[in-house]
Amino acid sequence: MLLVFGGFLLAAHDAAAWIQWRVSVKVFRNAAGNWPASADSNPERHNFDAQSNIVAHIAENNRLLASMGWGYQFELTEIVELPTSLSNWFNADPYDDQTWTDLEREIDRHRLTDNVYRYRREAINVYISNAQGGGGATSPRPILPVLSDLIIMRVDAGKTTFFHEFGHAMDLCHTHGCCNTCDDCKDEFGVESSSDRIADTVRDSDCWHSTNEIALENFNQFYAALSAGQRRQVDDVFHNLMSYHRDDGGLANRLTHDQWDHMVDIANAARREISSGTTVFVDKDALGLSPCELLSQLAGLVEHLPGPTSWYTDELNAHPPGPEYYLRRTCNTFPIDPSTPPRPPKVPSDWPWPPPDYLGKPPEYPSDWPWPLLDPALFEVCVGGAYKTVADAINCAAQEGDRLQIKAGTYVGPLRITKRLTLATDRGTVRLQGN
Ligand SMILES: [Zn+2]
Repeated sequence: MLLVFGGFLLAAHDAAAWIQWRVSVKVFRNAAGNWPASADSNPERHNFDAQSNIVAHIAENNRLLASMGWGYQFELTEIVELPTSLSNWFNADPYDDQTWTDLEREIDRHRLTDNVYRYRREAINVYISNAQGGGGATSPRPILPVLSDLIIMRVDAGKTTFFHEFGHAMDLCHTHGCCNTCDDCKDEFGVESSSDRIADTVRDSDCWHSTNEIALENFNQFYAALSAGQRRQVDDVFHNLMSYHRDDGGLANRLTHDQWDHMVDIANAARREISSGTTVFVDKDALGLSPCELLSQLAGLVEHLPGPTSWYTDELNAHPPGPEYYLRRTCNTFPIDPSTPPRPPKVPSDWPWPPPDYLGKPPEYPSDWPWPLLDPALFEVCVGGAYKTVADAINCAAQEGDRLQIKAGTYVGPLRITKRLTLATDRGTVRLQGN
């Protein structure tokens, strides 16, 4: 069997399979029970002032998500009208730090009792207030770590503000750094120094307002003089959802490959509870060992270390890699650190343990153990990261409904897919070849 594809392929299922990010929207009302209302005459600024507008807003953002081709969608799980007893939050402004502190404390205080704020652990919690002026904010505002599942939107927030705030909730910073305005992105010497921690975004600043400025600062040339590849890099920042260039004419319609990689990592781990499934990465050239390869390859890896292989396999079985090692895109150091082996069952119970050299080798001492007894070595291996074969990804990690994201290339091996999975390619064409 040979399968060649670029883009998406659905395995063992007949309908489009998305991974859903659950979004729960809560609306603060005033004492009279009215919804927030946008005072702006521009209909594009009425995104959150009515149920139908919220539904349309999420649908619009889902079209944008779909166009990015990463297989994720927002699932609007509910729109909740909060009771008028919470009308003191009606005008809560997301740009006010004290508001955040107070609101988070209140949500937390009520969470385990009446949960009057309808906080949901399994969703991103979006609160709509009557604050005016566009925009919204994630708490804590983008300083590290960014992770949060609370967003407050002003009722007249723009078309992509929610998606931008969601990016923060998934640990993305602004393209100009993990800071907000150019003033707070500067270091003590007045130099803008904050990085967005993303490798494929060129340098950006909230103080630059055109593709020319970004081009000059990064490539020392005007935009028009750049190569196609350089222009693309400038465009990817200028039109980025996580940039501040919307007012400069930026389209806010894209995220870069590495921004997506980072979001998916977060969706697989720290934000797992809001996601309906996970993305399993496959890369035939991956470094590191998958958790499933580890046990079978351990003997070869510990050959030169003191003691029999069983010291290390026993320790690995007792303390296997946790779930955080299963879905990462890159491998992470994993220590295998057996303690001094316990007395073997047949060594007499009155023999001192660990056995002192001067008494000689204890009776019934295991023949494959070193004598004199040595301490096992601490052993570190890079575990996790992408799976090297599609079969390993399916057998070791993927659950029903998950996505496999396969790095371009040819993969040879047994191919029997019995789970409902989406297979997506990453940076090119994938060939799956049965053997
Ligand atoms: Zn932001």
